[in-house]
Amino acid sequence: MRPAIIILGNGALATAQRLKGLYPQAQIHGLAGRVEAVDVLYSDFGAALRALYQSATPIIALCAAGIVIRSLASVLLEKGAEPPVLAVAEDASAVVPLLGGLAGVNVMARAIAEHLQVDAAITTSGELRFGTCLLNPPEGYVLGDLGQGKRFVSDLLAGESVRVEGQAPWLADARLPLDDQARLTIRVASQTHAPVADELLIYPRNVLVAVSAEADDIVATVIQALQSAGLAMPALACLLAADTQMADESLHAAALALDVPLRFTAAGHPGQLVEHALGLTALQVGAHCAVGVAALPIEIASVGRVRGRLAVIGLGPGAAELMVPAVKAELTRADDVLGYETYVRMAGPFRADQVLHCTDNREEMQRARHAFELAAQGRSVVVVSSGDPGVFAMAAAVLEALHEADRPEWHQVDLQMLPGVSASLATAALAGAPLGHDFCVMSLSDNLKPWSIIETRLELACQADLALAFYNPISRARPLQLGKALEIVRRHRAPQTPVTLGRDVGRPGQRLIITTLGELTVDQVDSRTMVLVGSSTTCTFAKADGGQWVYTPRWYPHKPG
Ligand code: SAH
Repeated sequence: MRPAIIILGNGALATAQRLKGLYPQAQIHGLAGRVEAVDVLYSDFGAALRALYQSATPIIALCAAGIVIRSLASVLLEKGAEPPVLAVAEDASAVVPLLGGLAGVNVMARAIAEHLQVDAAITTSGELRFGTCLLNPPEGYVLGDLGQGKRFVSDLLAGESVRVEGQAPWLADARLPLDDQARLTIRVASQTHAPVADELLIYPRNVLVAVSAEADDIVATVIQALQSAGLAMPALACLLAADTQMADESLHAAALALDVPLRFTAAGHPGQLVEHALGLTALQVGAHCAVGVAALPIEIASVGRVRGRLAVIGLGPGAAELMVPAVKAELTRADDVLGYETYVRMAGPFRADQVLHCTDNREEMQRARHAFELAAQGRSVVVVSSGDPGVFAMAAAVLEALHEADRPEWHQVDLQMLPGVSASLATAALAGAPLGHDFCVMSLSDNLKPWSIIETRLELACQADLALAFYNPISRARPLQLGKALEIVRRHRAPQTPVTLGRDVGRPGQRLIITTLGELTVDQVDSRTMVLVGSSTTCTFAKADGGQWVYTPRWYPHKPG
């Protein structure tokens, strides 16, 4: 996981930048108001630190160790993630690993210290003596039992010698007191093995299970297959399935429950899947399941491929606070970001490894097809819209592209629409509650629909006394539509009907105008404006700051008869 580099002031920026040289994917978090040129701004140091800790993000704090300890104290006893936490002196003169011994904090401390050409303040006795943390084996290996491991290490520290059974290449550099006759044994193997007092069990993650979605209970099938092959659960590196079953929910749920990645390869019998992916014969093959055991830990990225994802996201009107957290998370996981350049820029900043595909606003269908091409290769793709993606935006274009294409692999993609605050709602919130009762949303653009349809709908919406929200009210290429629409509205609504105009809502230069239908002129409106016209019940009253509140009551007057 990419680390977060936390700084409190500009004095630490130079060191933060140096650390980015070591961790190019890291994000620099800076205190709002004190620093600018950072990736993420926070306003409360303690809250920001605790949130990162609880989301298992490795933390490199460029400040006093004491401040970090005090800030995290309240969450340390909670069960859950224990990411590495380090304090690094602002001037790069000291590196202090604080927490996360089992998550590799000392490995990080050494790497940072080497990068900054200082010594790391390692205090863990096992590490100091043996040059490695036996309880934190490298990627591809897992420790059998932590409690037992701790006893084992203290025996070693007390002066006992040890022997290694199985392949543990990373221990070659360690300064272990090796002796073939030793009582203590480090045992590296994927077979199930009852814990023995004098053994440190380390499992290589070299087992893969190919499953079919047809299995009744996938988790039970996998567990049983491992058991009958005599293999330990922690040795399971990943699940593998046929790419024709990519969209099957039960496979994804099983992988989640077993806490292993799910990969896909060209369709076949489970035994064939193992052969495709690992190039070796399956150890054990059943109707819905086959087990493959590799000589070394399995490198997940080289096994088949992952299911691609395509998320159509809504950024909200513009301000970062109005973007929903799910959208922020999606932007972080994206490999590719597609959209109209203005919106792509609004969604940033991006990391150097994220690929941006900016296109013209009118190339929606081509953009949607391009997004599927990328996602079908296993990439994580985001298509951005402003506001909500389902309101005159990309979600419908993406579905249209999928619907009309004869591309089975596009249908296998994990397609998600993530909502955003639409311009009508953001504008309404600024004015009060002009859409507080039934309302009608329309785009006045006749680019994709005949003007006669717009006229009919307007006429009927006015007859129905709905409040009206107009998107795309006018543009340089369509200067007349709003005027023509207002002619229709004015035939049905009184001149004193409140009208709310929101321009660049949630963006720099935001402007809100509250006027009336009688006073509204077309030159007050442009393509970046949202127009909200009241119904017969919409009213206004003075606001303490000199402005006006607009609202449409929730009730309706009963008409006699
Ligand atoms: N998907 C967008 C709407 C796209 S249509 C949404 O849900 O908000 C584009 C129209 O939306 C513009 O012509 C304008 O009328 C309105 N609009 C979009 N963003 C706006 C903003 N920040 N302020 C005011 N109007 C906006």
